[in-house]
Amino acid sequence: MTVRLILEYPDPRLRQRSLPVATFDAALRQLIEDLLETLYAKGGIGLSAPQVGELRQVAVADLSGTRSAPRVYVNPEIVTRSRPAIVEESCLSVPGVVGKVLRSTRLRVRARDATGAGFEQDLADMDAVCLQHEVDHLAGKLFIDRLSPLRRLRLWTMARSARQATPRPRGSDI
Ligand code: ZN
Repeated sequence: MTVRLILEYPDPRLRQRSLPVATFDAALRQLIEDLLETLYAKGGIGLSAPQVGELRQVAVADLSGTRSAPRVYVNPEIVTRSRPAIVEESCLSVPGVVGKVLRSTRLRVRARDATGAGFEQDLADMDAVCLQHEVDHLAGKLFIDRLSPLRRLRLWTMARSARQATPRPRGSDI
């Protein structure tokens, strides 16, 4: 397993749409292992393949805080979702920025696992928020796109000065 370099905004690869996975082979399993290793190394809760420069519809998550509940979503699709609520998000690809966005707090996702087997899963609260954030990544979207222009501008100024000053706290980045 390898800890991969995480692309950061404004890398144009983060804006591209990832392609669905058609072949469930050793290369895919390697990518999934690398994503999990990278997620754990960075102290995040979710990570998508485009964030490490692989434009494939693969995302991983682990919200256990103890690296004990890795989840893998290949070609994920949100089938149903509840009405949205305001939640706070951050992203490993947008260091230093935390913002409030609208997300459904309950949803049903349909996806495949590393072997290609299909499954459906009901997610709530942060699990649901994380999955929506990752599905956005696979479509080339970032959570900051969901903030108002004024808020985006202000956060960017803060992020820039934060990056030059102290390291940010870790543990909740998606
Ligand atoms: Zn993210």
